[in-house]
Amino acid sequence: MPDFRIPMSSPDLSDRERQAVADVLNTPVLSMGEQNLAFEQAIREYSGSANAIAVSSGTAGLHLCVRAAGIQQGDLVLTTPFSFVASSNVLLYEKAIPVFVDVEPESGNIDAEQLTRAVEEIMKGGKDAEGWLPRRGGEASAPLKAILPVDVFGQPANYSAIKELSDKYDLAVIEDSCEAIGAQYEGRMAGRLGDSAVFAFYPNKQMTTGEGGVIVTDDDDAADFMRSLRNQGRALGDTWLEHTHLGYNYRLTELSAVLGRIQLGRLDEFLEKRAQVAAWYTERLSAIESIETPQVGSSTTRMSWFLYVIRLAKGVQRDQVIRKLEESGIPSRAYFSPIHLQPYMRDLFGYQEGDFPITEDLGKRSLALPFSSIMTEEQVDMVCEELIQLL
Ligand SMILES: *Cc1c(COP(=O)(O)O)cnc(C)c1O
Repeated sequence: MPDFRIPMSSPDLSDRERQAVADVLNTPVLSMGEQNLAFEQAIREYSGSANAIAVSSGTAGLHLCVRAAGIQQGDLVLTTPFSFVASSNVLLYEKAIPVFVDVEPESGNIDAEQLTRAVEEIMKGGKDAEGWLPRRGGEASAPLKAILPVDVFGQPANYSAIKELSDKYDLAVIEDSCEAIGAQYEGRMAGRLGDSAVFAFYPNKQMTTGEGGVIVTDDDDAADFMRSLRNQGRALGDTWLEHTHLGYNYRLTELSAVLGRIQLGRLDEFLEKRAQVAAWYTERLSAIESIETPQVGSSTTRMSWFLYVIRLAKGVQRDQVIRKLEESGIPSRAYFSPIHLQPYMRDLFGYQEGDFPITEDLGKRSLALPFSSIMTEEQVDMVCEELIQLL
């Protein structure tokens, strides 16, 4: 690893978190205790959701949402290839078929117009439906069960369009809000816009539990089912060695739960600081001709900055920029690498370059710069000076 002058991302931890974790370590209860209950209650209060289910990762949370939506082998689910792989992988765990819709160039979120066409044509079936399916691996006659939109980089997807479609065609909506805790769409909180949603807490996210995630939903039956699956399929009333369902160990430790509760109490402070860091970047970079700075759409009434991702002009050698920044001690990263072009996705479904042009274009030109709530203006200056000089 090269010696970086600043980190790519960083958790924002204080002595309060350190003390709280140490206090839990002084008890014998390290799993399935009151810290999980307190964290879940704090998430319910923050989000306004009727249920919160703490889990061991964002991926685990999304997987439980897929199970709760009754998604099974061969079922079709609309989602996008411009995401972290987890949003599609959770469908593959159940042998369901992710049916990709390309994204809007501005936000990187699912393209509402194409999504509408996809739903209508898949519902018609036959040739119309086949056009949306991968080259192999999926059947056009299979039921379309759900939409799984991703709130990319902390900006909620177009939920007016998604809601209209889900109501009209009776589709489940699983919101991947793993990058968007605290964001708002037309005044409504991300994670409250679908049937169920997941926030994630890996250390590069807006707040962290080390590893972890939480599911939010207003559906009490689904919540009970997901609580059971999280805990090895033990239903309410089952003893330790009774398992009503095929479940998993997706539990969150008490250490992570207490960390999460304290971090959540500081989340609004983190989001303000992240917005400040983003503003510093935009001030310095928006006038640079070969750089497009991130755009926040008018429906995003509150942005929850997860990353600061710029796009380089066509013709700029992005990977060379990454290398040169690295040589001057500055980390940066291509974000995202399209899901449909990952080796196992090509193998499974026969995807090829050119299948989702906007996703691929963003994948080639995007560059995430160092970003965290503890970043200083001087550090932003340093990154921008190097970057501008290099371009
Ligand atoms: C972080 C993230 C997840 C969940 O990741 P975990 O590492 O499993 O917590 C899921 N989807 C997206 C889009 C993410 O960014």
